[in-house]
Amino acid sequence: MVTGGAGFLGSHLCRALVARGDTVTGVDDLSSGAAQNVADLVALGTDRFELVIADVSTSLPVDGPPGSIGAVAHLASPASPPEYLARPLETLAVGSRGTELALELARRHGARFLLASTSEVYGDPLEHPQSESYWGNVNPIGPRSVYDEAKRFAEALTMAHHRVHATDVVVTRIFNTYGPGLRPGDGRVVSNFVAQALRGDPLTVYGDGSQTRSLCYVEDTVGGLLAALDATGTGPFNIGNPTEITVVELARRVLVLTGSPSPVVHYELPADDPTRRRPDIDLARRELGWAPAVDLDDGLRRTVAWMATRLDGT
Ligand code: UDP
Repeated sequence: MVTGGAGFLGSHLCRALVARGDTVTGVDDLSSGAAQNVADLVALGTDRFELVIADVSTSLPVDGPPGSIGAVAHLASPASPPEYLARPLETLAVGSRGTELALELARRHGARFLLASTSEVYGDPLEHPQSESYWGNVNPIGPRSVYDEAKRFAEALTMAHHRVHATDVVVTRIFNTYGPGLRPGDGRVVSNFVAQALRGDPLTVYGDGSQTRSLCYVEDTVGGLLAALDATGTGPFNIGNPTEITVVELARRVLVLTGSPSPVVHYELPADDPTRRRPDIDLARRELGWAPAVDLDDGLRRTVAWMATRLDGT
């Protein structure tokens, strides 16, 4: 079972699970996901994939006899800053009550529970690169806290469930992921830049663009999640690509790859925007046998090709 199964990352995870022979139920309220993301899976029939439309913060209407669910991957949440900033209370609800309901379901079934946590638990990090032992630097009352603290609470709840009920859990901390399926109107940096470049609109760099991110191609991220599901440890495991790039350099690369004449414009930097971010993935390499394989230019080319077919989307 995958909560957020019709979302950007969730739909890719569902597709990978179905491809390897698992029967998957995706649960999604379609608030940031879309049924279209999994239309190909729905077409395979309910013995392979089913989409249940529900808000996992209030109910998880998926059950069956004990043991009939082998794994619960909890991905449901807005993940794009403009989306979680627009729905702060819903973001806190899905990270708290939604995580609790998903954990209870996993416990009832003796299923492995995977939490999709985030590099945002490190906040604006004072350690660089970030390894899992770093506790983070999060402003608990800033606008981004609705996402950061929801995920931090979700991690705490997951580990408490493991300690109290012996629930089989794993925490993954996912760093910026991009690729086909990221809606042009999603609001994250890669989808904004690629859509802007393809439309000939200015590329909107926030601040001076010297802040860094480390971008992981979606198929690599999904590979990390599958490896974590199939492993036995609790983590947390950083899942990301350690190749770090400034935002302004990313804009330049997108312009080169698209051949776009778009100018670059600078907007105000959002509050509490992390200045740098790069995962230390030694633990995932060692314990999960996983590492990303797709380099940035290759991943961006695939994203540009996909987005070019979707530019009427919002
Ligand atoms: N960003 C930008 N222009 C945009 C969107 C984002 O310069 O149109 C910057 C943003 O300020 C941040 C980085 O790109 O420094 C990554 O932003 P994103 O929203 O993709 O994810 P975040 O890592 O902040 O959660």
